[in-house]
Amino acid sequence: MPYFINVILPIPLEKLFTYSISEAEAGFLQPGMRVAVPFGKSKIYTALVHEVHQKPPVIYEAKEIHQILDETPLVTVMQLKHWFWIADYYMCSVGEVFRSAVPNAFLLESETLILRNKNFQPDENELLDDEFLVFEALEHQSILRVQEISAILGKKNVLPVLNRLLDKNIIILKEEVYEQYKPKMVRYVRMGNAYKSEEKLEELLNTLTRAPKQSQVVLTLFQLQASSKKPIKVSDLEVASKSSSAIIKTLMDKAVLEEYFIQTDRVVYQDDGANESLKSLNEYQLAALKDIKLGFEKNLPTLLHGVTSSGKTEVYVKLIEECIRSNKQALYLLPEIALTTQLISRLQEYFGEKVAVYHSKYSVQERVEVWNNVLANKAKAQIVIGARSALFMPFADLGLVIVDEEHESSFKQYDPAPRYHARDAAIVLGKLHKAKILLGSATPSVESYYNAQTGKYGYASILRRFGDVQMPDVELVDIKELTRKKRMKGHFSERLLEEITETLESGAQVILFQNRRGYAPIMECTTCGHSPQCPNCDVSLTYHQHKKQLRCHYCSYNIAVPLACEACGSSTLDTKGFGTEQVEQELQTLFPEVKIGRMDLDTTRGKYGYEKIITAFEQQEIDILVGTQMLTKGLDFRNVNLVGIMNADTLLNFPDFRAHERSYQLLTQVSGRAGRTKKRGKVIIQSYNPYHQILKQVSTGDYEGMFKEQLYERQQYKYPPINRIIKVTFKHKDYNKLNEAAEWFTQGLRNAFGIHVLGPEFPPVSRIRNQYLKHVLIKIPNGQALGKTKNSIKRIEKSFNAISQYASVRVIYNVDYI
Ligand code: ADP
Ligand code: ZN
Ligand code: ZN
Repeated sequence: MPYFINVILPIPLEKLFTYSISEAEAGFLQPGMRVAVPFGKSKIYTALVHEVHQKPPVIYEAKEIHQILDETPLVTVMQLKHWFWIADYYMCSVGEVFRSAVPNAFLLESETLILRNKNFQPDENELLDDEFLVFEALEHQSILRVQEISAILGKKNVLPVLNRLLDKNIIILKEEVYEQYKPKMVRYVRMGNAYKSEEKLEELLNTLTRAPKQSQVVLTLFQLQASSKKPIKVSDLEVASKSSSAIIKTLMDKAVLEEYFIQTDRVVYQDDGANESLKSLNEYQLAALKDIKLGFEKNLPTLLHGVTSSGKTEVYVKLIEECIRSNKQALYLLPEIALTTQLISRLQEYFGEKVAVYHSKYSVQERVEVWNNVLANKAKAQIVIGARSALFMPFADLGLVIVDEEHESSFKQYDPAPRYHARDAAIVLGKLHKAKILLGSATPSVESYYNAQTGKYGYASILRRFGDVQMPDVELVDIKELTRKKRMKGHFSERLLEEITETLESGAQVILFQNRRGYAPIMECTTCGHSPQCPNCDVSLTYHQHKKQLRCHYCSYNIAVPLACEACGSSTLDTKGFGTEQVEQELQTLFPEVKIGRMDLDTTRGKYGYEKIITAFEQQEIDILVGTQMLTKGLDFRNVNLVGIMNADTLLNFPDFRAHERSYQLLTQVSGRAGRTKKRGKVIIQSYNPYHQILKQVSTGDYEGMFKEQLYERQQYKYPPINRIIKVTFKHKDYNKLNEAAEWFTQGLRNAFGIHVLGPEFPPVSRIRNQYLKHVLIKIPNGQALGKTKNSIKRIEKSFNAISQYASVRVIYNVDYI
């Protein structure tokens, strides 16, 4: 009897592929192991076994696999289930989920580019022959394709060699050339675990009588420890004991001493190196914890709605502690932007090495390591904290899922597929593991709050800030009136300037928020009105003062700032709109003495940019921080007393049914950065329309009012959470073909769903990277079966693809579009 496997290939094709294997291989292979397989004419892919069976494929003859790449499964059966759910729900192929779920290093294929890891010098004698050949080839040629390596080694099956070289740190993949964030670490020393008791220590000193230098080091360490509770640096010990690093190393090798590392900028004072004890919760936190547990008992995902600085994180910490005490794994998801060293080190204070961070900024090696530790259920990675992709870790026994800042839209992956919502996918994952699921936010999404109200989720709340710190005092300033009366200084009202001055005088810090959207500055000719456009996209280029450039934010096209208008030739080019850069500049003129920092995409792009600015602000090297959306999330600055919002209107006027909800969330979150400690914070919101309902709700903290109004609107216009939506995007470089194709497809949708289809329409930016775009929105009433609806859409797509002139038009689905 022949044997076969069905494999998942990391490509957008919907079907699984069948390959033939030998009987012995059939006995060895299990779902979740990788195999190298030939595909198409000459390609080699890393594929994942889904099923071992004996049914030959009907339509094609099964090819043989090249090679088995794993000894044990790399992906769990639970993960495979989860992937299939994602593929099905978000209308993509399971191969696409595979591709985005695992670190790239697991996916070697014939097109992958390989480089030498220049930071690592291997011992050549320890390389196997084939490894050495690759190593040597890369000394001569800096970059090689997997195919070329195939030729060099004279065999097809090179993925195992490359996997070994990756493990040994000798090669890296092209896409993986990251600038890695390495916090600055200082080396500390303490007594080894075995020598902490007095008797053991005596014994030790007795055995060391013949090694006076070593004994001197141990005694000095004791003296140092007695005189200070602070951690002791290795370098200090070396100096104080007049010894050498060699002697200290000997003691470390013997485990008499133990080294450990702490980030320089956040040293925590621990007297024995053990974990910081948990804080005891106050009555409001305890009450919330009780309600959360009620939700858990009913097996419901539970929403924790706690105002900013109410101590939600401490509640999470309690739950994590309980989870790891029962020896289960915990997943802590955060929006990318909030994933700061601040929070990580806070968790590490409590849980030490049990915390593993899974982050796109980390190198492949680090990511592979976390993957393997989670898979092996090691204590080292019992708590995984990360942005959305952390939910793809191979959890063996997940007990708790926390989704912090659950309202954040960046949990939704936009491009490429799978276009999943990490919160929702994490809930499904939690359910598969029968784990407890907690969503937390100061400003819950309308969807989640609705689910809590309808009993689909449990609910708990904390309405006060921790330590009875008052909620900030929000003042709305009408800049329309002031602009008319010419009473503005640049973009600043007198009120805002007064408050800035006062805050700075009191020694506190200021945050100024300038919304990113709609206020990117552009250049405009004051003679003819022309503004320079991107040749590839349908947008005006954005003016970057600092680099004296015009840039496209969609495709990175850029040119030097032109001296004259390209349309009429006059030199009357002026900038319009204002961004963070302008705010920074105006401020510098108004407050020449003051240190100003800026946090936006430009200043945080580079090496550790984000961390650097946050640290500088924390350490009060910066007095005023000007920034975009980036500074809203989860940051806990102790000394900020004033938050100024330069202009609330672009947020409110954004053409989207979620614009008002978003504005409420964003403004409340930014405001929440003010006055987190004793003194009551102040927030100034400048707006042309200060009587806007949302601004009132923000100023009074009226979440309930906001929710009711928004829900009413959603009911009226049939948007989520009342209906589900699927957005279909059509993409093509030919404008006419795109129009025709979109029209054809939409007609099919209308026949199936009638009035629930909106569009097709061009989006505000209707051409990106030379591709025209058109959208259609399908609203699906809550009662209607989602599976059936998707099947109908897929059927329409099939007929669509059968029309030859439309075959090149790309169709992209975005389920639960945000
Ligand atoms: P949130 O996550 O709701 O914004 P945090 O958890 O950051 O709030 O708490 C705000 C501040 O209050 C933090 O500095 C935190 O250390 C402190 N805090 C919260 N709960 C406690 C507690 N039970 N005991 C002592 N300090 C607490
Ligand atoms: Zn002009
Ligand atoms: Zn462009």
